[in-house]
Amino acid sequence: MKNLKIAICPGCAQALPIDNRGCTACGYEDNTAGRILTLEEIVKLPAGDQVHAFNDVSPAFIAAVVNAAAAPFVEALEKIVLHYPNPDITHEDYRVRACKNAEQTLADYRSAGQSR
Ligand SMILES: [Zn+2]
Repeated sequence: MKNLKIAICPGCAQALPIDNRGCTACGYEDNTAGRILTLEEIVKLPAGDQVHAFNDVSPAFIAAVVNAAAAPFVEALEKIVLHYPNPDITHEDYRVRACKNAEQTLADYRSAGQSR
């Protein structure tokens, strides 16, 4: 999922370049990787991984992760909602568009999940 290809500091939730050397704002580091991993890399770590375990994770980091994960669904819902008041779209068209948008978003989500 491309929206998870971002690095966010677990300590202070600062957005970081993917090619970082730790957080420039608070000094947070992942000494094993040498940089703060992207959300996608963190999500793909094996369950129970202790090598990259984070200390002192900020609630703002958790919120950022949830928001990044929800982004494609929010985007799909916004597209669906935008079509509704359009007088040129019949209810049948609307239903088809809404289902196609939802189907595509779910398919993207599932294929990203399978690559874990
Ligand atoms: Zn930081």
